[in-house]
Amino acid sequence: MEIVEYSRPRSIDEALRLIRDRGGTPIAGAAWLRTNVKTIKLGVDLSELELDFIRETERGVEIGAMTSYRSIEMSGMLAQRFGGALGAAVSHVVGVQLRNIITIGGTAAGRYGFSDLNTMLAALGAKLVLYPNTVLDFARYLETGAGGPFLIEKFLLPTRAQAAFAQMRISESDFPVLNAAVAKPEGEWRIAVGARPGATRLCPRAMALLGSEARPSDAAIAEAAALAATELRFGSDIRASAEYRRAILPALLRRAITEVRE
Ligand SMILES: Cc1cc2nc3c(=O)[nH]c(=O)nc-3n(C[C@H](O)[C@H](O)[C@H](O)COP(=O)(O)OP(=O)(O)OC[C@H]3O[C@@H](n4cnc5c(N)ncnc54)[C@H](O)[C@@H]3O)c2cc1C
Repeated sequence: MEIVEYSRPRSIDEALRLIRDRGGTPIAGAAWLRTNVKTIKLGVDLSELELDFIRETERGVEIGAMTSYRSIEMSGMLAQRFGGALGAAVSHVVGVQLRNIITIGGTAAGRYGFSDLNTMLAALGAKLVLYPNTVLDFARYLETGAGGPFLIEKFLLPTRAQAAFAQMRISESDFPVLNAAVAKPEGEWRIAVGARPGATRLCPRAMALLGSEARPSDAAIAEAAALAATELRFGSDIRASAEYRRAILPALLRRAITEVRE
């Protein structure tokens, strides 16, 4: 990665101006950016914008775009509110050194197919706040993108939700073969699947089957898990075939749904 001009703005308005008007590239932890060989004409370092926070508000829980995976993993408040599911989604990513620099904002911006955290956020029904005041449904944004240059300010999560994360990896520090997340914010079941290897998608038919059922039976859980595998598209890559991904998804989902039910 080569950066021709580097800027570290002190205000979020200035950062947005550089990104929108001068074609600047936001730099979060630069963990993913540095794997790229392309030249960045103007790098906009977001580290001085005070976007590193996890806090409670009247509307729910807010996580700033520059919050690291390690902060999410170690947050007692998030563990209490979401049953450890957010920590479970990030704790498998490589090692502590990397998790200290990679951010929730850099992860969402890339809409990476392999992302574990994006799957968990979609299941939780997270909202994405683009500065200054655009609020997007996160799962929808994963499908459509933001359309033009943007600056992620923060994420809005519900106050609390029962949630679970499940994944399949060949080895601990590799990218996932498949991941799945289940949550029940506001009483409705939500199911998201990522690393298909395409980006995270919801499973609307499986979600509708479970609806707002407080304690679905084992049979209903098995039916929803099997239905999810039929409504998603899977692909093949060096880690696994589409058929393998489709075959293992019901097992991941049965585990995650059962964990949320209990
Ligand atoms: C070796 C390695 C292994 C990994 N393994 C996994 C894995 O197994 N599972 C997994 O889920 N993830 C994995 N990741 C990805 C990681 O979780 C992050 O998603 C990724 O590294 C983002 O890095 P970053 O936060 O430093 O963002 P950067 O690299 O700084 O930026 C990434 C992109 O987001 C843009 N951006 C950053 N912040 C913002 C913002 N606030 N607003 C708008 N745009 C922004 C940047 O311009 C850039 O395009 C891995 C990454 C690496 C480097």
